[in-house]
Amino acid sequence: AKSDKKYKRILLKLSGEALMGDAEFGIDPKVLDRMAVEVGQLVGLGVEIGMVIGGGNLFRGSALHAAGMERVTGDHMGMLATVMNALAMRDALERAGISTRVMSAIPMSGVVEHYDRRAAMRHLRNGDVVIFAAGTGNPFFTTDSAACLRGIEIDAQLILKATKVDGVYSADPMRVPDAVKFEYLTYDEVLDKKLGVMDLTAICLVRDHDIPVCVFNMQKPGSLLNNVMGTTDGTLIGV
Ligand code: UDP
Repeated sequence: AKSDKKYKRILLKLSGEALMGDAEFGIDPKVLDRMAVEVGQLVGLGVEIGMVIGGGNLFRGSALHAAGMERVTGDHMGMLATVMNALAMRDALERAGISTRVMSAIPMSGVVEHYDRRAAMRHLRNGDVVIFAAGTGNPFFTTDSAACLRGIEIDAQLILKATKVDGVYSADPMRVPDAVKFEYLTYDEVLDKKLGVMDLTAICLVRDHDIPVCVFNMQKPGSLLNNVMGTTDGTLIGV
């Protein structure tokens, strides 16, 4: 089915919260194992996969700052949290037989590779999953912005943002029962309607570079595969 696939190279963004399952904090290896199965299906189809993982299950700079810590220190801790999540994800992927690299924006010799775009491209062409850790390496950014930045850098054809709901809704579907789901949105609609899909930096980056973003539910089995095969199962944001 190799010729059927719509997207050859993708960037998958997982929030840190997606890794904690039903817990309030931390990492649930069982959740990671389920994700590894879904990612493995794509690898089997020859899709090249870059990943960015958030850190919100461990630390967020803004939350630490609100509790009294200096913001930049908090952001550094948040970025280090994404490295821990990346190590856990690599562990799950490798146990599932999927060759994986972690490249960190903050050098951490002996633990992970330092991000190098050309090396990342080589790994992707070799069929290795590449997890981009430590966000952009800079405070005051988010891992959504890191996902869009790395997605653009590696020439991804699609950025997939995994969330707890199956797309973008007119209001929070957990709270507003008659909230409607959008099948398709332009970048400008996301901005005008203040839908809060991603922060402004991230949306503006993808808009400037015309990369489509798919918002979908990673907990729904097969949804990742469908979206990558070109059948939208979520919300597609594009031009
Ligand atoms: N962070 C940062 N720069 C980046 C990416 C992330 O400073 O380029 C910090 C920031 O403090 C953020 C934390 O890392 O709160 C975790 O990332 P994020 O909140 O995006 O994780 P998610 O919500 O996706 O789990």
